[in-house]
Order: sequence, then C-alpha cells, then structure tokens
Amino acid sequence: MSAASAAELFRGTFGAEPCGVWSAPGRVNLIGEHTDYNSGLCLPIALPQRTFAALRRRDDDLLRIVSAQGDGVVEVELGDVGAGHPTGWAAYVAGVPWSLRTAGYAVGGLDVAVDGGVPLGAGLSSSAALECAVAAGVSDLHDLALLATSSGRSALAAVCVEAENTVAQAPTGGMDQSAALLAEAGRALLLDCRDHSTEQVPFDLAAHGLALLVMDTRAEHALVDGQYAERRESCEQAARELDVTSLREVSVDDLSERLAQLSSDLLRRRARHIVTEIERVRETVEALRHNDFPTVGRLFVASHASMRDDFEISVAELDTAVEAAVATGALGARMTGGGFGGSAIALVRADAAEATIAAVESAFADRGFRAPDCFVVTASGSATRDA
Ligand code: ADP
Ligand code: MG
Repeated sequence: MSAASAAELFRGTFGAEPCGVWSAPGRVNLIGEHTDYNSGLCLPIALPQRTFAALRRRDDDLLRIVSAQGDGVVEVELGDVGAGHPTGWAAYVAGVPWSLRTAGYAVGGLDVAVDGGVPLGAGLSSSAALECAVAAGVSDLHDLALLATSSGRSALAAVCVEAENTVAQAPTGGMDQSAALLAEAGRALLLDCRDHSTEQVPFDLAAHGLALLVMDTRAEHALVDGQYAERRESCEQAARELDVTSLREVSVDDLSERLAQLSSDLLRRRARHIVTEIERVRETVEALRHNDFPTVGRLFVASHASMRDDFEISVAELDTAVEAAVATGALGARMTGGGFGGSAIALVRADAAEATIAAVESAFADRGFRAPDCFVVTASGSATRDA
C-alpha cells in the first residue's frame, strides 16, 4: 500500500484521477494505559505503517467510498450520515465529512479510495489512521487549512474523535487521533488528557543502538467491550469515593492513605494502577530526556505488572510475549493498548531484535498460540499530503 496504490484503486473504481492522496499513521502507546479517561498522561509514537486515501471533491452531497481492505463501493448521501449510519468500515470514512459539517465547516460530497498499511484491529489504531488520512484530504480540498498549524491539527483530531464516537459508535479517548495528526518523526508525543496540551519528547532509539519491537499477538478475545466499560466505571467510582473529579487529582505521595479510604480491594487495585501509571509516564519522559533507557525498560516492566495484577487487562498471549522478550535480554516490555489481546512492545538492543522475535515466536508455538506478528518500528511523522 502506497499513495500510488490508493490512486490506482481510485482510477480503477471511479474512472477518474483523484485530486490528491493523503496519508496518516497508526500509533503505538509507549506507556500510560487507561489513563486517558482519567484525565491522565499517555505517550504514543506514530508508526511507519500508514493508511492512504485518494480523494476527489464532488459537486453534490454524495459520498462514494472504496477500500482495498473493505468490500465493494459504499454510497451514502452526506445528509443521511449520522449516529450508527452507515454501519461497518465505511463509517470511519463517512463520519469525517459529517463531523466536519457538524462542527460548522462547509464540506460536501467526495469520492474516496483507501489503501491501508496499518494492521486492522491489532491495537495499532488503523481506525484513526483511516479517519485522519481522510480528514487531512478534506481539509486541503476545501481549503480549511487545518493541517498548517498545531491548533488546526488538534481541531481536526477532535473532529475525528467525534466521527468515531458517533458514526462508528466506538468509544475512543483521543490519543489515537492526536498521535496520527500531531506526532513527529524521532519523537514521542506526551499527551495531557486533562488540558489537552502536548509536548514532543526525544525518541530516537537508532541513535542509541536500540529498537522498539511491536509484537501483535493476533489473539482474539470476546467480552472486551464490557470489560472496558467495567474498568471505566471502577475508576469513576473510586474518584467519587475520594471526592476528586478524576484519579489524576490523586497524588502518588499519599497514595496508600488515599487507597485506604476506598470501599473495596478491587477499587484499591484499579485506582493504584491509574495513579502509579500516570507517575510512570512522567518518569519515562524524564528518563527519555536523559537518554536513560535502562530506566525506561524498568518502567515498561512495572507498567506491565500493574496492568496484569492490579488492572487485570492482560491475557496469556500478552504475558508470554512480554516474558519471552525480557528473558531474551530486552531492556523492558509491556502490553500496550486497551488489553485482552492486541499488541505488546519491547525495548531491545538493535542487534538483538531478530533473536527476540525468534524467542517470542517459539514461546507462542510452545504454548499452542496462533503465530504472532513481530516487527521493528521507528517513531514516524503525522498526517500529510503525499501526491
Ligand atoms: P484498531 O484501530 O486498533 O485497528 P478498531 O477496531 O478501532 O481497531 O478499528 C478497526 C476497524 O477500522 C476495522 O474493523 C475497519 O472497520 C476499520 N478500518 C481500518 N482501516 C481500514 C481500511 N484500510 N479499510 C477499511 N476499513 C478500515
Ligand atoms: Mg481504533
């Protein structure tokens, strides 16, 4: 998949040249899990894997959408797009012009051809890559100039969140869209979900002989939606019992006294994960600023233990990937994303990446798990025009 393949799909489907091709990256979160809805901190990087969207403006209000990863051409009038409509993958595309129009921007119909290089449903945010590639194109085609400034890009991220929440009806906190629109190559993006401020943090691993490995477990688990809602509810209840607006307001300094005020051990463990995880994001940023990668690795390991034991969102495949990577000499490893499947990451010496992949594959084979998909990633750039 590339700008050329998206343009080719466009020509083959609509029999015309696209006006241009735009792309946006997937993302992986380095640390700070389930902290977004607790007004906390997270630290994603943009992936080299990108989704490409070839677009052409139409004079009417029709949307015609095709994807190399979808099925057939979906046609829908922009005026008919809304909560839960259209269903399926096309919602992530149609939701974007709908959300822009709802936010007051003058946008109309489009022909769209998509070719995505972000694995779907692996916790690497193919959904935001798709939305943000389309959003970048619509902004340019309608001269909205939202790509030109970071405030414009933040506004576009909010538009994409609204598209995913309302039209695709998927709860999402905003980390994915911010990473796709605001991340910079060679940097991690520190996101403060309380005031929506962002900071670029150095993350040039190659310069230090290191590499980041993504381990997509390809594990499939049911009941994930219910688990997400349950964790969210526990955090909200803990905040209510502690009389704070969110767990962000609880300090690590008097954490044990605060936890003692909670009504159950379950709430104590859930709250402990959030408060300590937010602190680990701060410590990771500090360590990255000093190129202290052994500390980053230790924070990854502590984060994984917290998600496994206190927040209880890991599964055997994620634990196996993390344990195999650490046993092979990784500086650290942790599950990433919402949990119950998806991907884990490992911070490794660049010359040990292949051996770590082999060790993880063999640990999966020994336990009878489906083969994982492991690959090295670098911190890449955000949404842009490609052609
Ligand atoms: P993730 O964002 O972690 O990959 P999601 O469940 O949030 O997982 O989003 C995956 C969904 O996004 C897919 O099931 C599909 O509906 C849609 N999607 C993402 N990329 C594409 C694409 N290139 N073509 C068609 N649909 C896509
Ligand atoms: Mg997603």
